[in-house]
Order: sequence, then structure tokens, then C-alpha cells
Amino acid sequence: MVTIKSERELNLMREAGKIVADSLLLVEQNIRPGISTGELDEIVQKHMKKVGARPSFLGYNGFPAAICTSINDELVHGIPSHSRILEDGDIISVDIGAEYKGYHGDSAKTFAVGDISDTARRLMQVTKDSLTKGIAAARPGGRLTDISYAIQTHIESNGFSVVRDYTGHGIGQSMHEDPQILNYGPPGRGIKLRPGMALAIEPMVVVGSYQVKELNNGWTVVSADGSLCAHFEHTIGIYEHGTEILTRQ
Ligand code: MG
Ligand code: MG
Repeated sequence: MVTIKSERELNLMREAGKIVADSLLLVEQNIRPGISTGELDEIVQKHMKKVGARPSFLGYNGFPAAICTSINDELVHGIPSHSRILEDGDIISVDIGAEYKGYHGDSAKTFAVGDISDTARRLMQVTKDSLTKGIAAARPGGRLTDISYAIQTHIESNGFSVVRDYTGHGIGQSMHEDPQILNYGPPGRGIKLRPGMALAIEPMVVVGSYQVKELNNGWTVVSADGSLCAHFEHTIGIYEHGTEILTRQ
């Protein structure tokens, strides 16, 4: 069931979204060769505690950390660790969710660590732009898969692959709500987008083939061919007049 939020609820989601955006900014300011992903997790945990928010991912289906940190060929759900040290040339996708006053925000971004390859830089830009295009395609009165189509066409026209096995989602009092938002497929299908909906749109992109697999730790998802992955995500609210990014920095 797709829930319709009141203006009061969307306002609370904007507050949760701000906490997520600030957490991502803190991560960005601390990313450098030599820092561990465990330290990045601690920084976010500390910030959320300070502002009275709860990390949405901590304990979610047993996930052991506040944030997901996925490096290079890792796509999503990487587990932060004090023994995982960032190196010059890495790219790292950081996914953060916060629950505040009963409402969730969810956002992800891929960052460069030091000097990265041209391919990595292009992958990050294309993924980021595909999110922008997906958000632009989310219009009150439009259809859900207008978003999917906009994302897929941008990614594939730039020669990269869009992951099939993971999707965007509705969001609100739960981190994952209906509808599921595919990042591929024809436009003009699915539910009609209405004011009061809140969506987490999150293209996941691979340089090579779109096949992915889960590692033995039961969490980390990597590209099957070992090529680089990127992930950008925003939570948006749909209003009469258009959309607003609730996790904007
Ligand atoms: Mg997320
Ligand atoms: Mg999400």
C-alpha cells in the first residue's frame, strides 16, 4: 500500500532528510586515504546521537552498523570496519538512513578517495546525473515508471549498466514502503504519482555487466564481473506544485 503523507508528515521527513544530508556531508569531509570505514560509521553514529536521531540501518534485519560503506566493486550493503582502510584511487558509496520523530530519510552518494581513474569519475557523474533525471521525471500526475525509464536511458546511453536486483522504494514511517521503484523499464506504467507521496530514488550502476552477487557475509553486494559500482540516492516528496528533495545538502 502506498501511503499519502500530510504536510506535517512531509515536514518531519524533511527534518529526517536534513539529518541524513548533514551526516553525508560529515562523511565527505572526513574521507581521505588512511581512514577506516569503521571510523566513518562512528562519526555518523555520534552525529545522530547528538541530534536525537536513530540510524535507520542499525539493527535492520540484523545489520551491524549505522551506515553502509561499499568500496569499488561493492555496490551496496558493505559493512563498515576498523580494518577496512580507504586507499588513494578508491571510490566509496555511502548509504545513510535516519529516523527522526518517527519518520525516515534515506540518501546515498559515491565519493572519490584521493585521485581516481577517469572511468571512476565518469561512472560517478553518470550515476549522479541519472538520479537527477529520475527525480525530474517524478511529476504529480505522472506515472511511477517515468522515473525508471529516465534513469535507465541516461545510464545506458553512457555505456554503463543499471542493476536489476535492487530498487528504490517508498519511504515514511518505515524505511522501505511501497511502491518499489525499478531503475529500468518502459515509461508510463505503475501507479500515478500523487501529492503526499514520498519516494527514495536510487540508481545503482555498474561499469560492466549488471549482474551482482552477495558475499558470504550475507550483506555486501558486489558486481559479478568485479567492475566498479556507484550509487546515488535521494528521498523526495511529491507536492501539488512539483517535487522537493528532502535529503538535499
Ligand atoms: Mg539508502
Ligand atoms: Mg533506499
